[in-house]
Amino acid sequence: MYVHDFSSGGTASKDLLGGKGAGLAEMTSLGLPVPPGFTISTDACRAYLAGGDLPDGLWEEVEAAVGRLETRTGRHFGEGAGPPLLLSVRSGAKFSMPGMMDTVLNLGITDPVTARLAAWSGDEHFAWDAHRRFFQTYGKVVLGVPGDSFEEVLTELRDARGVADDSKLTTGDLEAAARRFAAITAEAAEPVPADPWEQLYAAVVAVFRSWNGRRARSYRRIHRISDSLGTAVNVQMMVFGDLDDSSGTGVCFTRDPATGEAVPYGDYLPNAQGEDVVAGIRNTLTLDELASRHPGHHAHLLKVMGRLERHYRDMCDIEFTVERDKLWILQTRVGKRTARAAVRIATNMVAEGLIDQREAVLRVDADSLVQLLHPSLPKDVAEPPLARGVPASPGAAAGAAVFDADLAETWAAAGRRVILVRAETTPDDIHGMAAAVGILTSHGGKTSHAAVVARGMGTPAVTGTAALAVDAEARVAVVDGHTIAEGDIVTIDGTSGTVYGRAIELVEPEATVELDELLAWADAYRRLGVRANADTPRDAAAAVRWGADGIGLARTEHMFLGDRLPVVQQLIMDADGPGGRAALEELRKLQAADFAALLEAMDGRSVIVRLLDPPLHEFLPDPHDLEREGAAPDYVAKVEAWQETNPMLGLRGVRLGLVFPDIYRTQVRAALDAVQARLDAGGDPRLEIMVPLVADAEELHRVRLMIDDEIAAASAAAGRDLDVPVGAMIETPRAALTAREIARDATFFSFGSNDLTQMTYGFSRDDAEERFIRRYLDDGVLARNPFETLDRNGVGRLVRIATVEGKTARPRLVAGICGEHGGDPESIRFCHEAGLDYVSCSPPRVPVARLAAAQAAIGEAASTSSV
Ligand code: PEP
Ligand code: MG
Repeated sequence: MYVHDFSSGGTASKDLLGGKGAGLAEMTSLGLPVPPGFTISTDACRAYLAGGDLPDGLWEEVEAAVGRLETRTGRHFGEGAGPPLLLSVRSGAKFSMPGMMDTVLNLGITDPVTARLAAWSGDEHFAWDAHRRFFQTYGKVVLGVPGDSFEEVLTELRDARGVADDSKLTTGDLEAAARRFAAITAEAAEPVPADPWEQLYAAVVAVFRSWNGRRARSYRRIHRISDSLGTAVNVQMMVFGDLDDSSGTGVCFTRDPATGEAVPYGDYLPNAQGEDVVAGIRNTLTLDELASRHPGHHAHLLKVMGRLERHYRDMCDIEFTVERDKLWILQTRVGKRTARAAVRIATNMVAEGLIDQREAVLRVDADSLVQLLHPSLPKDVAEPPLARGVPASPGAAAGAAVFDADLAETWAAAGRRVILVRAETTPDDIHGMAAAVGILTSHGGKTSHAAVVARGMGTPAVTGTAALAVDAEARVAVVDGHTIAEGDIVTIDGTSGTVYGRAIELVEPEATVELDELLAWADAYRRLGVRANADTPRDAAAAVRWGADGIGLARTEHMFLGDRLPVVQQLIMDADGPGGRAALEELRKLQAADFAALLEAMDGRSVIVRLLDPPLHEFLPDPHDLEREGAAPDYVAKVEAWQETNPMLGLRGVRLGLVFPDIYRTQVRAALDAVQARLDAGGDPRLEIMVPLVADAEELHRVRLMIDDEIAAASAAAGRDLDVPVGAMIETPRAALTAREIARDATFFSFGSNDLTQMTYGFSRDDAEERFIRRYLDDGVLARNPFETLDRNGVGRLVRIATVEGKTARPRLVAGICGEHGGDPESIRFCHEAGLDYVSCSPPRVPVARLAAAQAAIGEAASTSSV
């Protein structure tokens, strides 16, 4: 069975009915006023996509369902007498994909039906408006005619009539629009069928096909939704918010989707249909304004909101329509929200007794927490904003204004921060929205496309900036005489809805009470430790602020750069001479101070110092530059001798430590000096030393002897045993495969998953993403970028082998991960399952990792208890 009436009362599975379909069935069973209809299941979509045709029996089921709808409503679909039954047809996948496909409205209209509609409503104006809307939506959605072709006609008619709003056009204008729309579709694609059944058939097929459309695929890629789910189709009796001024349509949320505050939030548009609200073409009224116009409907709506929120135990997003004296609820789903709102709603709902702490921890998308770490505007911006709009998606952003999505993508790919500026956005802008650091529109409220999509992406957005006149063709926007040209820097604040015509330095984010509360709950569930990758006292302080248990990776490269570069160069060029020795001594003192500052910032928490890793020549000048500058030929030759063809596979990591032992010795000595200094100051330094890029146990063994030597000397000088664990980075496949041998000299393992991914795939870290990974992702060669999400089957297998064998050889071996994957929720889940002890990530991702680690632990508990 493919077709399920909303009223059939079975289990409302989102897998089968899609999110919208399941919501409609559930609302119907709650007794809410839902226009009747039915859902064609995702099974039917999958069958269509597999076979290229509607599956056997589906159409007969649809015909029967329409028949039941006629009986229930007393209206007739297609030819016949009496009130006409018009339908809306819309897609609805398991996960909501805003803007994936627009709705076909008023399906079933033909000329005779229009006359019957006029008779039923007593309003010819409305009937022709419904007629033209059908052609417009069918033309766009089913036939793929560009929406602009229809908009141009409407603009022409409005201008001729001197009105700003379609509802002010005359009946004759609307009939003319309908006729011209019919001509446009016939010319651009094919005529709209005069048979309502054929219309319905084509609309159903169009929904199925839309699943594989460009914008749907790109949405799924961005939001990591599986391509194999398919979409359901919802066919529902039309109700008319555009019947007259006492009717209208709106969208509401049971709590504020931007802040999470427990007050209903919504937009209402009188005399309009749903698409008008979402498109943001006209400015909407608030729920308070609805209350003053229609107190009865408002009260009823509040009741429905309360009912739905208690039912779903979550914030709901509801579409409703007022048709004269009746309130209809068109659909509901768990509402999209910003990360700030998600955290607030989850913690508030625990306080309200709606959900428990475990549920709250699961409710918040871990990745989205980075949104909370968005910068904000400083409190003391002196000048008033250039313009104000709707605060649609929080956070502030500064960047170059661009007026189309393609250019936004191009500039962003070239490393520029861009703000996408549009009158309004459409699903065709999705790639530009994903590339932009901020979105600014002149139209639309908090439920407009721009707002919904920006919140989903966690990108700051200001919408409905009425004073902003955007001229995308001329590539300028004008506000009160101030012109923003393409490339000009603007700053937007999606928290307050303000826009500034210059770059403003933003303030770094702080934790909120709610976030701290949620993360404290998460800490009680997680088994994985969470450390930070931090090299400076400033990063270390941030790591502590975000709740890191320690530093999992302190890269020491920066200690060799900047002012110190000449000293380092002297060291390399005169390795065995007096200049080299003097340079080493100087470097030791400088590094000791660096290490002491780091240990102080992390007092009482472990700090893993990684010995120098990058290729040596990175510290040397470019020989071509030297030649041009007329340097001595023997100096140039010496520098040239250090150049490598494949530096990433060359003299770096532990190899450097064995070829230039004094460099590692000096680093170790400096770190031990720092420990001594901290002990003298009464601190609690927890130094650990890590050796990078080990490929053979013998490499580690030799370096280890040297390090132990230094620790013994430092202990003797201190008159006490210094306990400094020494470990190996596992970042070459060979190290992973010989973990048993490596564990003999390693107290801990730290998986350098960046290098391990590079070397397992043979993909250059520096070049692959730019050269071909994007392409691979677009073409589906790769489902995920392995530098972002750890590849379970290959790299992950190496991690598992090394963890099991390392821990077998040395039962107390501590194993962690410190590549970029340490901050990625899905990779964190893998680390939990693989039995690692901790993950280490950049400081702002520490909250993400704490939450993801808890979710992994809860997920595991749930799956074992259900076995
Ligand atoms: C790694 O390779 O994963 C790692 C953490 O080291 P780096 O990125 O410094 O090479
Ligand atoms: Mg590495």
